This record gives sequence, structure tokens and C-alpha cells, in this order.
Amino acid sequence: MHALEQKILNEGIVLSDKVLKVDAFLNHQIDPVLMQQIGKEFAARFKDAGITKIITIEASGIAPAVMAGLELGVPVIFARKYQSLTLKDDLYRSKVFSFTKQTESTIAISNKHLNSHDKALVIDDFLANGQAALGLADLIHQANAEVVGIGIVIEKSFQSGRQLLLDKGYRVESLARVQSLENGTVTFCRD
Ligand code: 5GP
Repeated sequence: MHALEQKILNEGIVLSDKVLKVDAFLNHQIDPVLMQQIGKEFAARFKDAGITKIITIEASGIAPAVMAGLELGVPVIFARKYQSLTLKDDLYRSKVFSFTKQTESTIAISNKHLNSHDKALVIDDFLANGQAALGLADLIHQANAEVVGIGIVIEKSFQSGRQLLLDKGYRVESLARVQSLENGTVTFCRD
């Protein structure tokens, strides 16, 4: 997606060979116009897939997921990462190892919002080693719902996540595929 790649080149900050900071438009400040374009792109790619729900994870998955939900006309559920006083009972839970925090945490959604008739699209901001996406897919499987695909805003293609998800049979659609962050420079996959 050209506009996203340009935004990454112009405003992304390479923190290391493995970590890209995009606080200027996705992870802290949010660019609503770009988010709308991202939502339209996800919707175009998955429009014929019969999606009934979008599942993401707080906090940074919410903006692109809501925009995709608006375009597809379906609700968006975000998994909670922390204990919530209002999210107590009847939960689907999964353990996720966080790439950025290097710790394991439990993610959860209420079983009220997902059922065996749902066809769910997973959306997240980044794909690194695939653990967040797998955790979200696990929540969907616990509801006996179908994982129709996984939509990623920024995939770091030099890490293992994409292949892991493909090997498990998931359809993966990434709007920007970063080939390398070496020498402080972002390069994209061209294929
Ligand atoms: P994974 O679970 O695929 O290993 O990592 C994906 C999750 O880690 C995303 O939800 C995202 O929040 C975070 N993440 C992974 N890599 C990066 C990165 O380079 N930059 C930022 N800002 N977040 C990342």
C-alpha cells in the first residue's frame, strides 16, 4: 500500500535492526486519514470472505480494526491485555508472549460477542513472530468460530511470523511488508 509505505519512510523511526517506531501515525498519535485508507484496503482484500466480526488487540490494533469494521459493516472486538473489573466472567483466554515487552501476558475476550457462526478477521498493527496473531486466532477457535484471515498493517518479513501463520493454514494480508531495517534504513519487499 503506497501511502502507508510513504508514511513509514517519512515518519517511521528505526530503533534497531528489529524494531520500527511508528508513534507519529499508528502507535501513539493516529493519522485518521491514513487509518481510513487502511480500513478500505483491508475491506477490499476481504470483501468476499463473508466476515462477520473483526478481532484485534488493545491498544494499537483498534484504530485500523475499527476502520476496517466500518468499511465491512461488522463489529470489532478488541482483546484485553489486562485484568478489567468489568470483564470478569465467561472469558476466552490465551497466553501471548509480547515481542516488544519480552514478557508473557494473558489476553481475553468475553464469550458473549463471538459464537460458532462467526467468520472472524484478525487485525493487528505489526507482525513480528506471530504470537499476538496466534493468540487472537486461539480465542476465535475457542468460540468454535472460523478464522477467515489475518490482516496486518506492518509486517516485518525478516521475522518468523508470516511463515508460522501460513504454515498453520491462515491467509495473511499485510499492507506493508518490511524486508529489512538494517543500517537504520527501511526497505520493503517487492514481489
Ligand atoms: P508478534 O506477536 O508478531 O511477535 O509481535 C506483534 C506485536 O508486537 C504487535 O501487536 C505489536 O504491538 C508489537 N510489535 C512487534 N514488532 C514491533 C515493532 O517493530 N514496532 C512496534 N511499534 N510494535 C511492534
